[in-house]
Amino acid sequence: MNLHEYQARDLLMKAGVPMFEGGVAATPDEAEAIARKLGRAVVVKAQVHTGGRGKAGGVKLAATPAEAREHASRIIGMNIKGLTVEKVLVVPAADISTEAYVGLIMDRETQRPVYMVSAAGGVDIEEVAATTPEKITRLPVDPVYGLLPHQALGLALTLYQDYPKVKAAARIMQQLWTAFTANGASLAEINPLVTTPDGEVLALDAKISIDDNELDRRPDLAQLRDDSAEEPSEVAARAAGLTFIKLDGNVGCVVNGAGLAMATMDLVKYYGGEPANFLDIGGSSNPEKVVNALRIITSDPAVKAILFNIFGGITRTDDVANGIKTALEQFPVQVPIVVRLTGTNEKEAVRILEGIGMTALGDMDEAVSRVVALAREAA
Ligand code: GDP
Ligand code: MN
Repeated sequence: MNLHEYQARDLLMKAGVPMFEGGVAATPDEAEAIARKLGRAVVVKAQVHTGGRGKAGGVKLAATPAEAREHASRIIGMNIKGLTVEKVLVVPAADISTEAYVGLIMDRETQRPVYMVSAAGGVDIEEVAATTPEKITRLPVDPVYGLLPHQALGLALTLYQDYPKVKAAARIMQQLWTAFTANGASLAEINPLVTTPDGEVLALDAKISIDDNELDRRPDLAQLRDDSAEEPSEVAARAAGLTFIKLDGNVGCVVNGAGLAMATMDLVKYYGGEPANFLDIGGSSNPEKVVNALRIITSDPAVKAILFNIFGGITRTDDVANGIKTALEQFPVQVPIVVRLTGTNEKEAVRILEGIGMTALGDMDEAVSRVVALAREAA
């Protein structure tokens, strides 16, 4: 789950990271009021789930409350990388001497949180990563020990020479660790971490992604989710208790179990197709889940054929068949459906499907190659 900057700032500030207090506005009036209350020059910042807002015109300096209002009226409603800006953050503007990058991400390769730190921070960090990766220092951290003081100093020394700044940056490195682990983050980023002409070290931007699997035990974080900023089909799937990720292909996939779902997607690709989604209907038996799954998948016009791949263990295949039957009674499905099922109650499942004029296949290769061919014919 991605957080907005204003939400991520709260978590960083709670961990002690030095940042200016600001306010969030949904209207130009509110933006002006916040700027007036702050009583100094401010920055008006688009709150959308993407980076590169600065380059897109979504970050503007304002010397007066009236100017803050003007910027807010231009930025609210603006479209940045396909996302509509609903709110702006209004914070005191900082004088900037240098801009550095500090990130902490969960890294699959080392299976550890890894710090990424660069003195060449700011809006061009992607460019730096692509063309001069040697300017980024990486440090994997043992999660048992956390970031040790000498490691924090080592990272800070790659950013600054003079001791007060090094010390301040080292403290921020450790505060970032606290924010990351306390909130179950998979990514926490400060870009830019700036120094000011009077030698202060400040975080001016905050980006945090929370691991979805951490949300059940963190209800206060779970409610920070902004459904309007997410893919609508994924929001619907979450409400229906399905694990669903939308992809770019045209073969809709309904599978039970994450492992089988991934194997199915691999096989779709193996036969020359492209999956339209990842979907795990879960282990429990529940025809309603199948109905919801079909509703979500068929609402995507890109889907040209649908594959069911069900390995019945705890999942009863007759429940899945009943789900398909119910769905077809409730709404029209315009694309062909190929069903492969095997396991618990498969005889009943086959009978139910035959009752509505469908055949169930037992062989996975046969089912996948058939659905890929059907999708190709329709496309
Ligand atoms: P992003 O482009 O989405 O990453 O948004 P940022 O919050 O990082 O802002 C982009 C850039 O705007 C920063 O790299 C700064 O150069 C500039 N900026 C942001 N806040 C301030 C500020 O308080 N003062 C000044 N002078 N520039 C700022
Ligand atoms: Mn930034």
